[in-house]
Amino acid sequence: MIGAIAMTEPGAGSDLQGVKTSAVKDGNQYRINGSKTFITNGQNANLIIVVAKTDPSSGAKGTSLMIVETDEVEGFERGRNLDKIGYKANDTSELFFNDVKVPTANLLGHEEGKGFFQLMSQLPQERLIIANQAMAQLSWHYRLRLIMSKNERLSARASWIFKIHNSNLLR
Ligand SMILES: Cc1cc2nc3c(=O)[nH]c(=O)nc-3n(C[C@H](O)[C@H](O)[C@H](O)COP(=O)(O)OP(=O)(O)OC[C@H]3O[C@@H](n4cnc5c(N)ncnc54)[C@H](O)[C@@H]3O)c2cc1C
Repeated sequence: MIGAIAMTEPGAGSDLQGVKTSAVKDGNQYRINGSKTFITNGQNANLIIVVAKTDPSSGAKGTSLMIVETDEVEGFERGRNLDKIGYKANDTSELFFNDVKVPTANLLGHEEGKGFFQLMSQLPQERLIIANQAMAQLSWHYRLRLIMSKNERLSARASWIFKIHNSNLLR
């Protein structure tokens, strides 16, 4: 089983309160409508946690997490695998939910409206890990540049690495 978490939308990134995807209760099921973008594992995931508004009038308190098992639903579509300069092992994709129906038991947690708080209990750690990786990569790049500037032979041999890095950084 491959998992994914679908928060980001074309109009909602850092500020998740702007999420427009809705999950409307209809008897013993929810109907999910909306689109997501930049979703890691989107091409292959068969269990997706979808951030959706169960009460659009309540801001963060109207946000819930819905579990969508993609093999078992209709109306779910995968969009483009977006082009990016690194981390090619994971796809980063668009997802579309067109009246996808899931049982009410697929609400993550015991009650509606807790999604924002569930996300905020984990996301700061994830963001910190990403920031650490970025700092480590920058530091490696800087140190290698210093070594190269002091050693012409090494500089010639390793110049191809920087051709790749520089062209990626310029993109
Ligand atoms: C490789 C990759 C994998 C991803 N995987 C996933 C995934 O699996 N699931 C998922 O849901 N999303 C995923 N994302 C999306 C990611 O979570 C968003 O890119 C992120 O939340 C930022 O949103 P945004 O790109 O719309 O940028 P924006 O929110 O538009 O931000 C753009 C810039 O403005 C700054 N900014 C924004 N708001 C403020 C503010 N109030 N004050 C000051 N500065 C501000 C930001 O720091 C940033 O520098 C992925 C993205 C990438 C690149």
